[in-house]
Amino acid sequence: MTKDIDLAGNDWKPATRLVHGGVTRSQFGETSEAMYLTQGFVYDTAEAAEARFNGEAPGFVYSRYANPTTAMFEARMCALEGAEAARATASGMAAVNLALMAACKAGDHVVAAKALFGSCRYIVETLLPRFGVETTLVDGADLDQWRKAVRPNTTALFLESPTNPTLEVIDIAALAEISRSVGARLIVDNVFATPLWQSPLKLGADVVVYSATKHIDGQGRCLGGVVLSDEKWIADEVMPFVKHTGPHMSPFNAWVLLKGLETLPLRVERQTATAAMLADELAGHPAVSRLIYPGRADHPQAEVARRQMGAGSTLIALEVKGGKQAAFAVLNALRIVKLSNNLGDAKSLITHPATTTHQSIGEEARAELGISDGLLRLSVGLEDAGDLLRDLTNALARAA
Ligand SMILES: *Cc1c(COP(=O)(O)O)cnc(C)c1O
Repeated sequence: MTKDIDLAGNDWKPATRLVHGGVTRSQFGETSEAMYLTQGFVYDTAEAAEARFNGEAPGFVYSRYANPTTAMFEARMCALEGAEAARATASGMAAVNLALMAACKAGDHVVAAKALFGSCRYIVETLLPRFGVETTLVDGADLDQWRKAVRPNTTALFLESPTNPTLEVIDIAALAEISRSVGARLIVDNVFATPLWQSPLKLGADVVVYSATKHIDGQGRCLGGVVLSDEKWIADEVMPFVKHTGPHMSPFNAWVLLKGLETLPLRVERQTATAAMLADELAGHPAVSRLIYPGRADHPQAEVARRQMGAGSTLIALEVKGGKQAAFAVLNALRIVKLSNNLGDAKSLITHPATTTHQSIGEEARAELGISDGLLRLSVGLEDAGDLLRDLTNALARAA
């Protein structure tokens, strides 16, 4: 196998890294990345097997540890994110679980923002305490709450920004400082920002996690996740967990996601431009009581968003007047925008968090997070921007 152009030390832009990063060609010199659907690998001699196992000779051993196609995906993600090392996982949740499990043990303490993707909140609130890890949930935008919550035994700070579904923006550079003051690792779930608009490692975070299911695939085909950090932590803490507990990404999914990365900038730039236009058009709509978009000057953390994000987001949160009944009327009147709890797809997707993704947390927790019965989360797709605006304004007129 031969390596393609070496991106290290070059200042090639993301669009270039996303097409060429991580490519390793077989003896056939294929253009597109090869898909190595194999469980294991064979050795020429017993001595070669021994050397592979004791680390004296490079090479693959078993696809639960590493696989050539998955390795290309990991290398491309590193080239994009500016990370030293990465491990790809079967889903975004496997990546979040892996990062948190690798960062703590019984007796440790974790601080996380309250506004988390539902399953992330389950890991922090329910799963970690079962294994003797204490956790504290704070209001993510209030830096004083983080400062008060950290303790000498805090080993990880965990957040997503912008948050799901209210698109709150958390100051990552400030959190990195708080995290460093107690020697903890700052883990950022960067799904909503996308790797194009926000680089947590450059802002001082120690670990970045993605659900590759979202914008990285971007076409609704397969699940995936990835954990990115420094070489030492990945080798010492993440790799043993991957090897022995089995969350590694399948080579087929890695191949799909490698192809997804090639078009990531085209898709995310277009989706963001459409989202920004829709946010401006719908902000003053008589049926809308509140519109939240990180790219707008009226966003509650507009200053932080401008500082740490390259652009708004592909997502918009909007609250319609008239609560659940009006929200349902809008959803049921939409023709192009599809009802789905997923996001980051080529198809525009809309969800009513109060009755779907955030149903199980209960009314009190929803109120605390600002998830009202009229709130809708819109993930903007690749359809014609004018058609989307027409579909949304027609549906809002129906609800009014
Ligand atoms: C979707 C998502 C996850 C989980 O990813 P899966 O691939 O569905 O397991 C985690 N965090 C955020 C912010 C997400 O949007």
